[in-house]
Amino acid sequence: MKKIMLPVLITLVLLVIVSCDNEKATDFIIQLIGLENKNIQLVDQSIEANTCHIQLKRKKHACPQCKTRTDRIKDYRIHMFQHLKTAEKRIIIHYRKRRYICPCGKSFDEKNQGIVQPYQRFSVAWHQAALLHSMTSPSFTYTAKAFGTSTSKVIRLFDARTTAFIIPPSQLPKIIAIDEFKGDTDKGKFQLIIADPITRRPIDILENRSMKTIQQYLRERGQQVEMVTMDLSQAFKSAVQKSLGKPVIIADSFHFSRYIYWALSKVRIRVQEQFHPYDRKRCKRIRGLLYKRKRALTPAEKIRIQHYLDLHRDLQTAYDIKEAYQAWFDTNKRKERRDVRQTLHDFYQLVRDTHLPEFIKAIGTLERWETEIINAFIYPHLSNGFVEGINNRTKVIKRTSYGFKNFSRFRAKILAQHFIKDFDISVG
Ligand SMILES: [Zn+2]
Repeated sequence: MKKIMLPVLITLVLLVIVSCDNEKATDFIIQLIGLENKNIQLVDQSIEANTCHIQLKRKKHACPQCKTRTDRIKDYRIHMFQHLKTAEKRIIIHYRKRRYICPCGKSFDEKNQGIVQPYQRFSVAWHQAALLHSMTSPSFTYTAKAFGTSTSKVIRLFDARTTAFIIPPSQLPKIIAIDEFKGDTDKGKFQLIIADPITRRPIDILENRSMKTIQQYLRERGQQVEMVTMDLSQAFKSAVQKSLGKPVIIADSFHFSRYIYWALSKVRIRVQEQFHPYDRKRCKRIRGLLYKRKRALTPAEKIRIQHYLDLHRDLQTAYDIKEAYQAWFDTNKRKERRDVRQTLHDFYQLVRDTHLPEFIKAIGTLERWETEIINAFIYPHLSNGFVEGINNRTKVIKRTSYGFKNFSRFRAKILAQHFIKDFDISVG
């Protein structure tokens, strides 16, 4: 993990410096404000007023026109610009910019070695820090406030410097995960995310989740793809099969298990309608306990739910199916394909014997995804769970930000944020 620390210091230290001898203090202030450069001379250090007057050492420069080396001074101009914050104070630098004049008549600015670009109102270090901040912070407005500038300036900087993320990868890796999320951008309500289950990072964001968009994208870049993890979306499955031939499709276990829990929920809602209003309300309240594994319940919780299970036979049956499903799920981790299939068929039979319509419907879905569900047990390390995490971070951006209606900016933001999230950045 790399650590990018930009100098931040408490006022106390500043007081100490003032009493130091002059040259040391100069060096220290230069370092403190992050302008470590042997050529910088501190002309005046009114750090309390947040201003710093600097100039560079006089030295020979090659004339840009005739290449003659000269240190003949023409004049000075003051270039004022804002620098990074130090001790929570914004530093304004008055840079006494020297101009040289060559015997050939050409006059030119001295080189300032990356302190500030011509005509810029902010230092180069400020631009770098603001850019990094804009990539990780939830909103551009937040970055603008932290760096003492306007939101539009931050957006322009972000747009100009994140162009590297605009080009999609030429080839996708061997294993990918696909999922959708509600981005609400100018290109549509839903966007598609393609992510890497190995690095757990997003690879790309597609502007919509239509079959056509997904197929075209995968045809162009998916020649190496061998495995795809996804939720139980028929559209994703056919898009993947049509464009990638026959990759191994792995259904995400959280998503297929949900069908069983939904069925239990539907049975509860159906039977509690017949309960006394008092019991109906209480039964609704204990729904969380119904989903919990029985062995994880406390004795008191067991008694509480048993009361409702006894009120309707279907609820008891539904609960038993859910427990049978969990037992099936737990015992199948790292089993052979043949065994998983056989025990899954046994589970179907158990459900059919109960004749509960909610569950018959649920196993219909499981049957349509049987191969992909079994794959989840064959490759237990691959799932879509991490994509959920990425999407949660995206939701934060969406909720707090101004400026992310624009799809390509939104996409760059998601990709950039994850690209640099391993860097521990503290800037101000
Ligand atoms: Zn010249």
